[in-house]
Amino acid sequence: MGRAFVYVILGGGVTAGYAALEFTRKGVQPGELCIISEESVAPYERPALSKGYLLPEAPARLPAFHTCVGAIDERLTPKWYKEHGIELVLGTRVKAADLRRKTLLTATGETISYKTLIIATGARALKLEEFGIRGAGAENICYLRSLSDANKLVDVMKASSGGHAVVIGGGYIGMECAAALVTNRIRVTMVFPEAHCMARLFTPKIADFYEEYYESKGVNFIKGTVLASFENNSDGKVMAVILRDGTRVPTDMVVVGIGITPNTSLFEGQLTMDKGGIKVNGQMQTSNSSVYAVGDVAAFPVKLFGGGVRRLEHVDSARQTARHAVSAIMEPGKTREFDYLPFFYSRVFGLSWQFYGDNRGEVVHYGDFAGARFGAYWVDRGRVVGAFLEGGDREEYEAIAKVIRLKIEVKDLAELETQGLNFAVQV
Ligand code: FAD
Repeated sequence: MGRAFVYVILGGGVTAGYAALEFTRKGVQPGELCIISEESVAPYERPALSKGYLLPEAPARLPAFHTCVGAIDERLTPKWYKEHGIELVLGTRVKAADLRRKTLLTATGETISYKTLIIATGARALKLEEFGIRGAGAENICYLRSLSDANKLVDVMKASSGGHAVVIGGGYIGMECAAALVTNRIRVTMVFPEAHCMARLFTPKIADFYEEYYESKGVNFIKGTVLASFENNSDGKVMAVILRDGTRVPTDMVVVGIGITPNTSLFEGQLTMDKGGIKVNGQMQTSNSSVYAVGDVAAFPVKLFGGGVRRLEHVDSARQTARHAVSAIMEPGKTREFDYLPFFYSRVFGLSWQFYGDNRGEVVHYGDFAGARFGAYWVDRGRVVGAFLEGGDREEYEAIAKVIRLKIEVKDLAELETQGLNFAVQV
């Protein structure tokens, strides 16, 4: 049994939605495109799961945040896919891919063939079991990657109202979940091995600001140590977390955000890999010319960094790589090499920051940390390569992005510090 399509998108997350919209704009015909997704809902804006979805009052719910509302564009409901003749195969995992035969085998036993495949399988959350932690399957331990994870988290939060949560991990997910838990009147202890939060991006000075802000909301930080084990009750629920240094932290629930790993396993041995993901060229094309890869799973050359290959786990890169791949497929020869400016953002409590570029080189901080309007520039070999801003407005964020895109030269770091945000605004 099988079906055949001209284009198949494997994965139904952020990239799938943006790619579908771009396909329709580039003239895809009804019946030509199919999206296969393990999730049971049409593509949605995944970042909403750790923000609006967890609000205690008027939380965001589907269909409100289907793609592509995050880019202030059309909202693609299941009806939209139907009207455009796009086949949505939901709740269906692909368990094997044969790139030579151009076929995908689903867990339901169907073979779906394609002429062109876009791999949009994203990533999965790393699990504590993978690090040998016993008791990690308890029902009050939550992860956050999919809508079903978010639903479980909401239920566990409700059951823990007025209680205490331990958040394992000090990255994006840990920070955003901690803020959501506090908003839901749950006291939070964050545990992570690094010296400060968001260690991959923040400088110690920037991290200090957010940690102090979180502390003012009642969050307690235990840094420089890791989880060793769980203490469970007779129902199998976690009652306390035991840290490597022996500290015992009683808790009603646990949220784990210890990183992700790209979903590449179907393609190991069939495609060239890089940076833990699938290597693509400036057209998002893999080592097999009929196969493209986008989003969290794709490792692509970043022109701005001299063509160095990066794999970015961020929503803007997901949206842009998806659109670019579709352009390259539908308008071959007309589509230029991908020229991406790395961009990350986060919103927690009333705070909001954006970052552009690369965090390498010397750092220059500026602005008013006490007033939550501050930033930093990263300067490498005399040029600004990275810029961070908390509390900016649209023009200011555009200004710091421009500085990075133009690789503005800097002669005097002290002068840059004095100028602060004005340096970017005046460019
Ligand atoms: P995904 O959106 O993860 O989609 C992958 C899809 O593929 C899923 O539907 C999955 O079920 C499906 N799939 C995988 N394997 C198979 C298979 N074998 N068969 C069938 N289907 C399969 N980024 C930011 O820049 N800012 C933020 O504030 C931010 N917040 C976030 C908050 C949360 C809670 C999460 C989880 C992520 C956040 N991100 C954020 C990251 C951003 O959401 C991702 O970069 C983006 O979703 C990547 O898109 P993708 O399409 O590559 O992968």
